[in-house]
Amino acid sequence: MEYPSRRQRLLEALAAEDLDALLVSHPVNVTYLTGFTGESSHLILGRQRTLLVSDGRFTQQLAEECPDLEVRIRPPRRALIAAVAETLQALGLRRVGFESNHLTVAEYETLREQAATIDWKPGRDRVERLRAVKDADEVAAIRNAIAIAEQAFAVFRANLRPEATEKELHDQLEAAVRQAGGRSTSFPSIVAVGERSALPHAPPTGRRLGDGDFVLVDWGAVGGLYHSDLTRVVAIRRILPKLEQVYAVALTAQERALRAIRPGVKAADVDAEARAAIAAAGFGDFFTHSLGHGIGLQIHEAPWLRAGSDDTLLPGMVVTIEPGIYLPGWGGVRIEDDVLVTADGAEVLSRLPRELSAWECRW
Ligand code: ZN
Ligand code: ZN
Repeated sequence: MEYPSRRQRLLEALAAEDLDALLVSHPVNVTYLTGFTGESSHLILGRQRTLLVSDGRFTQQLAEECPDLEVRIRPPRRALIAAVAETLQALGLRRVGFESNHLTVAEYETLREQAATIDWKPGRDRVERLRAVKDADEVAAIRNAIAIAEQAFAVFRANLRPEATEKELHDQLEAAVRQAGGRSTSFPSIVAVGERSALPHAPPTGRRLGDGDFVLVDWGAVGGLYHSDLTRVVAIRRILPKLEQVYAVALTAQERALRAIRPGVKAADVDAEARAAIAAAGFGDFFTHSLGHGIGLQIHEAPWLRAGSDDTLLPGMVVTIEPGIYLPGWGGVRIEDDVLVTADGAEVLSRLPRELSAWECRW
């Protein structure tokens, strides 16, 4: 497994910061570094010693998921953060990093009181930076998560009926993802009919499919522990000229962004490519969100493809490319695919056709 080598890479970064240890409190980061998928457990990653502070509910799961890891089971009467403080003191550590994006102020205060001799060093994304670049196992898991989502969408699409509501379609899609082998959906699926698709994150309502001219569907699957994230627009009965026009602009923007992806390129510049294509067609004010985000153990993670992002694309990153155009009162389109940054460019991992003509639904 990759877990020891991930910890080793992080330890090298800690040495460069002259830290004795890093307290990893974010459950997803704990999973990334250990394979443990439970909660309420903090990892103390030390240059001398590494151990996971957990509780009795997880004893068996820890033995199954990370048998080689040293574990300290706290007694039920002792709060997790207090047990962590006590352990850190007992280990005699001096300079310890913590995850300032995840530790609460109350937890930090407790650590400072109960492990008073430690010099605490905040850091926002020490583990997240490593997670942004996927290893071969992770890319395989994401490919699988995409395949599950695509299989579910084929079932979903075959079952579209004019009388079905957004909520019913949402529920059917959730079921289809699980039946296709998904642990769950990546997030609450978006099924937005007609002008409701102008809301980029529309919650499902009682609106019926047949009441609109198109439906926007944004969904994903968790396969293993990894997420996929896709969006397609399905035309109902026929493709109206305005939909065809707006969709073509979004597709051009997506293609321009895909061509811009390669190692060393700034994520912000890829966002700017798509944005320029949409602005050139006169819809610049209606692309109201960022171009994309990394996917992995979480549905949204580094790198961030948006204006002002400091991220640079590297081989092994997996990102969404999802330009959208949202016209209030009419509706919106978004086309979203999942892309691997390769040694010399990009590989689109998702396989569903992107042309609107592939997604006409007639009864
Ligand atoms: Zn999405
Ligand atoms: Zn997305």
